[in-house]
Amino acid sequence: MAKQLTIGLILPDVLGTYGDDGNALVLRQRARMRGLDAEIRPFLLTDEITADCDVYTLGGGEDSAQVLAAERLKASPGLQRAADNGTPILAICAGLQVLGHSFNAAGRSVEGISLIDATTTPLSARAIGEVTTTPATDLLAEPLTGFENHMGGTVLGPDAQPLGRVTRGVGNLDSTVEGAVQGSVIATYMHGPVLARNPQLADLLLARALGVDAAELAPLELDVVDALRAERLK
Ligand code: GLN
Repeated sequence: MAKQLTIGLILPDVLGTYGDDGNALVLRQRARMRGLDAEIRPFLLTDEITADCDVYTLGGGEDSAQVLAAERLKASPGLQRAADNGTPILAICAGLQVLGHSFNAAGRSVEGISLIDATTTPLSARAIGEVTTTPATDLLAEPLTGFENHMGGTVLGPDAQPLGRVTRGVGNLDSTVEGAVQGSVIATYMHGPVLARNPQLADLLLARALGVDAAELAPLELDVVDALRAERLK
């Protein structure tokens, strides 16, 4: 198992509005608690995005910030190369939208980078509140919990699979499915941060980053995480 883990945090200066940088902190902490040497490498708008991290996260953001993020990802395509290499990528909300084919911002349609087969257009009303799902893929066994806050509604094409089936909240569009899984990309509308609320998802990403099976990671007993999940999933 690799002893050194580098977590790429994509554009926290524009995609850091909703506390999703916390996902990188959770990955780092869960790695360190297992004795691994882990560091976070932020890629700001002015930085070249390189493809050499072990795992990447990108978070939510306002519409205008999201347009800047899309432009930067196109101009410096390290994340696309990382996806081609099979490196795990976690994308949240605006991050999900930007990784799709297109989304709406400032009244126009903006092209994403098409790492996921997903198209986003405005909902009739903003979706805000708790969202819970049951797994729609065999990657996970436990329900997922998060907080959603988005105006965009996303339709998945045939190359993307939903991450979960909605049991509470709106999810991608209409309270049926939530998130997307395609290749090494896992995307979700869940803030929280989602990895603080869903340790199983954090360990799936960590295991993929380390090139091992999640069952090979030493279990972590964290009562505070169990208490938070019990509160949010009741
Ligand atoms: N601006 C996007 C929307 O409203 C994403 C919001 C977010 O990242 N929370 O749909």
